[in-house]
Parts: sequence; C-alpha cells; structure tokens
Amino acid sequence: MIRPVIAGNWKMNKKIAEAVDFASRLRYDLEAPPDREVIIAPPFTALQAVAEVLRGSAIRLAAQNLHEAEKGAYTGEISGGMLSEAGCEYVIVGHSERRTLFGEGNETVNRKLRATIAARLKPIFCLGETLREREEDRTKAVIERQLKEGLNNLTAGDIGRSLLAYEPVWAIGTGRTASPEQAEEVHRFIREWIAGRYGREKAEELAILYGGSVTPKNIAELMLQQDIDGALVGGASLDAASFLQIVRYE
Ligand code: PEP
Repeated sequence: MIRPVIAGNWKMNKKIAEAVDFASRLRYDLEAPPDREVIIAPPFTALQAVAEVLRGSAIRLAAQNLHEAEKGAYTGEISGGMLSEAGCEYVIVGHSERRTLFGEGNETVNRKLRATIAARLKPIFCLGETLREREEDRTKAVIERQLKEGLNNLTAGDIGRSLLAYEPVWAIGTGRTASPEQAEEVHRFIREWIAGRYGREKAEELAILYGGSVTPKNIAELMLQQDIDGALVGGASLDAASFLQIVRYE
C-alpha cells in the first residue's frame, strides 16, 4: 500500500509573511497528521522561512523549479544545492506551466530530473496532455514520450526517490477535472510503462499523483481509484482551510 501524498503548488503566490502564516497553521492543525505525506511548494523567496516553521514536523517542503547546473553564470536561476540548503526535500519538475510558458521540452525536463537527483532532492515529475492531444486521441502517445524522454538515463533507484504527477493540461486551473475513470486510465498506463521499464516492484511502490482542479469536493472520489495515490493541488492549496480539507479527505 502506497501512503497517499497531498502536495500543494502555490505557484507565484504568497509573500513571506503569508507563507509563514499558512505554514504555521498547517503545522498546528496537522500536529497529529493523518497517515499521508503532506508537501507544500512555496515560491523561492519564502522557502527558507517556511522551512524554519516546518522544522521537526511531518510536513515536507518542495521547490517549484530548479536549474540543471550546479552553479555558474545563469542569471536569475537557482540550483538544486541551493534548494537543499534552503530546506527543500522535493522539487516539482516538468510542470505544464514550465513547459508551455517557459519552453521546457522533454530534454530539459530530463536534465532537471537528473539535477534534482544529483542534488539528493526528490523530483515530483509532472506530465500530461493538452486538450488537443486528447481530442486527437494521442494522450497515451504523448505520455509515453514524456516518460521515455523525461526519464532517459534515470535508474530504478532514481525512480524509487521520485513521485510522478499526471496533470492533464486542460484540467489545470480551469475548474475542469478529469473524471476519476479518465485519470485512472492514464495512471494505470503510466504504472504499466514504469513496470515494463523498471520492474513491477518499482511500479507498485511509485506514488502517482493526479493534478488538475482538485478540490475538497472531488478529492475523495479521485482517491478511490486504484492507481491514484495522491494529488498535486494548485488553486485549492492556497487557502489553508481548503488545503486541510483535501489533506483530510476520507
Ligand atoms: C497545478 O498547477 O499543478 C494544478 C493542478 O493546478 P490546479 O489545481 O489549480 O488546477
């Protein structure tokens, strides 16, 4: 049995004081956390302050992005080592907003996944199809390519340190959720692909999160699906009360 994972991606929201308030409330309310992994991904500027609030708690910290190099002349970028020093355990890699707004293709995603592992951080590797790709019945081909190219040169051990997040692009921030059955079909496909490449045991241990307009209302039915092991939540993770309801779904 995989322990469910609920992760909140705050994107470019919350200044330091708001982030600290949120993290303090979460820590207080989850003092006896339900048996699930809870992760929050604040913006870079708030990471260190939030890490201090969360120190010693069961809530984990993620960054939303990293640069693939360890250091150097990359103005405006942040390395895995810097994130680790700031207190992160996870990094979101390959989010569809990075892919579409910042031109990150599968090769870049692959380099970032390898940089994440090299920095001893754990990737939350995001993948998903656009509406057009789904309508053209290309969902599985797109996902397969994202897996194949994104995971190029990653070992079974690396997969053992990773989380995957299936996020249909058409469901992100749109209020349109994939139905539990639609999501399950792709999750199963991903798990079978991982089993073929890395072995059944690794595939069965891998947490595959669903992302795309998850709310307190739809989390429980999504989590009933056999291959949905958690959620990556955007909009509904910005409000502590709604995030807590998602974390505590039953
Ligand atoms: C996301 O950005 O990862 C996401 C799933 O956003 P939302 O929940 O707002 O659709």
